[in-house]
Amino acid sequence: MPLSRVLIIDQYGPDFTLISKALRPYGCAIMWTETLEEGLILLREAKPDIVLVSDQLPDGSEPTGLLKAIQSYDLATQVVVMTATADFERAMDYVTLGIFAVVTRPIGVERLRTIVSRIVENSRLFETITQQITMIDDNSSVLAIYKNLAGHLESGPLLKALSETAKKITGATEAITNVSEDMTEEPNIEAFDRESLTINLNWMGRELGTLKLRFESQKALRRVSQSLIDELTCAGSMFLGQAIRFEEAIKMASRDPLTGLCNQRIFIETIEREFRQARRYNSPLSLLTLDLDNFKNVNDTYGHQVGDEVLKWLAKVIKGVVRSGDLAARVGGEEFAIILPRTNLEQATNLAQRLKNSLDSTPIPNLLDLPKPTISQGLASLEHFLVNSTQDLIYWADQAMYLAKREGRNTVRSVSDLPSKTNFQDVQYAFQ
Ligand code: GH3
Ligand code: MG
Ligand code: MG
Repeated sequence: MPLSRVLIIDQYGPDFTLISKALRPYGCAIMWTETLEEGLILLREAKPDIVLVSDQLPDGSEPTGLLKAIQSYDLATQVVVMTATADFERAMDYVTLGIFAVVTRPIGVERLRTIVSRIVENSRLFETITQQITMIDDNSSVLAIYKNLAGHLESGPLLKALSETAKKITGATEAITNVSEDMTEEPNIEAFDRESLTINLNWMGRELGTLKLRFESQKALRRVSQSLIDELTCAGSMFLGQAIRFEEAIKMASRDPLTGLCNQRIFIETIEREFRQARRYNSPLSLLTLDLDNFKNVNDTYGHQVGDEVLKWLAKVIKGVVRSGDLAARVGGEEFAIILPRTNLEQATNLAQRLKNSLDSTPIPNLLDLPKPTISQGLASLEHFLVNSTQDLIYWADQAMYLAKREGRNTVRSVSDLPSKTNFQDVQYAFQ
């Protein structure tokens, strides 16, 4: 590992000593400050390769402020956030913003070393390829690749930049890139004859795609040196690997990993957006909330793993009954919600009934002997006079669901079934 400069922005303490001890033998020069303000000065002056920053700085500043500074100083610095609390979604948020990695305290020395060596490896490859390109022509594609790498862009723009660069370095007349999923769509073999070269882009044993280059003549193709092809393969694979990792991070940040449904954050964002839309266009909107009945018993009797299988089964059945414009989310442990745009209370009730029937008739894979779990469902719609905000919609759907629980479970209730104002104290809430 060549010498790299590491800036630590963190309160002085055992972690500082640990990081220094872990990284110094690997050829890292360590700088340290306790505040982001000083950190930004050091960033500009010393241009560190890596910044390790705490997510709890004494002045309350957010580590993401660093990313803006890095961009504005046009640096290739990568940021690693250190946090005291393991929060998966928050970590994913950081990664999607362009943070390279998140490490949880107490810091694992080996993991830290792996992260640092990966950053160093990436930047070395990156430098090699940018130098090659600059020698040929300092066109904007150099910048494009630079930005793609530093900003963790998605694979589309990255591949575009990669083909432009590949054309420039090799003198090819045409470059076509493909990511693995759509490779089958473009067999077009005869278009790639003896004047062509196909480079396979693989990263960590995964086939990511191909880069196909076509030349004016076989002679032009022969002029391309093997080392240049190797360089291109290596850099292209790494860049594409990063882009795909970024796309997956975005996907994971919005999905619940067990069921593949949207998570609570996406649910809240979506319901607020749909509520505004429904109001603006005066269109119906309903919300269905549902909760597994006596689910604790399933876990207690058959174990957590069986419980997880039940959750997956329920999510799959939900996916089967919703339409493409609906959004199904896992909003709690065994609680789910389905946002139903352009759907009135009556149509939503039909859907709830369909879901109930579908659960009755769909077996749970590998658990055929398990007594079939049931759900209680609650519905609220914008058309109801009690619903005046997103919060009302969620609140009344939940109240209806609790009513379904109270009235025997395995059933559907709506806001209209709730007891009248006189004996229902919570109604006041809606008028506050
Ligand atoms: P009710 O009909 O009133 O909803 O009863 P319940 O037992 O379903 O409700 P309770 O809130 O008492 O229990 C919810 C259970 O859900 C407890 C918890 O162990 C389980 N649970 C929550 N998340 C998960 C999960 O991810 N996997 C598994 N297997 N169980 C979970
Ligand atoms: Mg329950
Ligand atoms: Mg519950």
